[in-house]
Amino acid sequence: MIDWRSDTVTRPVPEMLACMMQAAVGDDVFKEDPSVNALEAYAADLFGMEAALFCSSGTMSNQLAINVQTQPGDEILCDRQSHIFLYETGGLAVHSGVQAHILQGDAGRLNPEMLQPHIHAEHDWLTRTQMVCIENTVNRAGGTYYTLQEAQALRTFCNTHHLKLHIDGARIFNALTETGEDPKSWGALADSISVCLSKGLGAPVGSLLLGSAELIKKARKKRKQWGGGMRQAGFLAAAGLYALQHHIPRLKDDHIKIKTLASVLQQVAYVEDVFPVYTNIVLFNLNSDLCNSVQFEKKLAEHKIRVSAFGSNTVRMVSHLDITDAMVNTTCDILMHLT
Ligand SMILES: *Cc1c(COP(=O)(O)O)cnc(C)c1O
Repeated sequence: MIDWRSDTVTRPVPEMLACMMQAAVGDDVFKEDPSVNALEAYAADLFGMEAALFCSSGTMSNQLAINVQTQPGDEILCDRQSHIFLYETGGLAVHSGVQAHILQGDAGRLNPEMLQPHIHAEHDWLTRTQMVCIENTVNRAGGTYYTLQEAQALRTFCNTHHLKLHIDGARIFNALTETGEDPKSWGALADSISVCLSKGLGAPVGSLLLGSAELIKKARKKRKQWGGGMRQAGFLAAAGLYALQHHIPRLKDDHIKIKTLASVLQQVAYVEDVFPVYTNIVLFNLNSDLCNSVQFEKKLAEHKIRVSAFGSNTVRMVSHLDITDAMVNTTCDILMHLT
């Protein structure tokens, strides 16, 4: 099977596995796991932030960020297609008692002009606007990203209105690969950042939450309360550290591969339109007279290619570490000759 469904499907490369096997471990609930401590210190330093917390998933790191920066009854502003709103099973409401005020971003991206009308004044009957959550890159919009300048404008806006700024940076390194920006510039403007190790970076499990020492202290306690305190997690942290140290530069290859695929999709009759490609994701709409996305998924599965239906007519394909050049060629060939 050639699996284009998601960049979460990667397996550890042999060098990563070797690091995992050799990892020094201890009890991380006692803060005694040297590999977890090393990963957290490395990541905090990479973003120039005070501290980091190793979490089991990006959902957990996002939800922790929201929980420790809000009070029940608060409102957060986010794009209507954001992961925290669509794909975290209502965690906002369940864990933190907050509500999302969803906005229509520009391909998923928010800016001060969009946010301005939705900041509530301090009346007894209005929810308190407390936080802005942005995604970088934006998954549902096909991997679009913010520039540093755009994020800085959001930071200034948040300062003016006393709002927290959280960045769901599940794929932030895909964005930084395109812009060439320094992670430290992003660390300087966010109150919290969540980064997935288990997507394009190719680690089997885990995400990081980054923030101030005080924020991470609170999140660490909450993580324990939610049952997320892990013991010899160093075996997993070692994979994460390997990923951060070795797999960032190669994200470029994923972007090139997905562009190759997109150029083929633009030529075939069963595709109506292909969204612009920004990073490692391509979204395209099928010609609905010919085929819907579920039929398309099935048809490609017969050729041992997996893609995800992303709406009745929309399909998503994502490039990642386990997609070889040969797989790109095979896929292009099959897409060209599909009947
Ligand atoms: C994958 C993803 C997450 C986190 O997902 P988990 O499966 O919980 O690790 C968060 N935000 C975005 C935009 C994602 O794509």
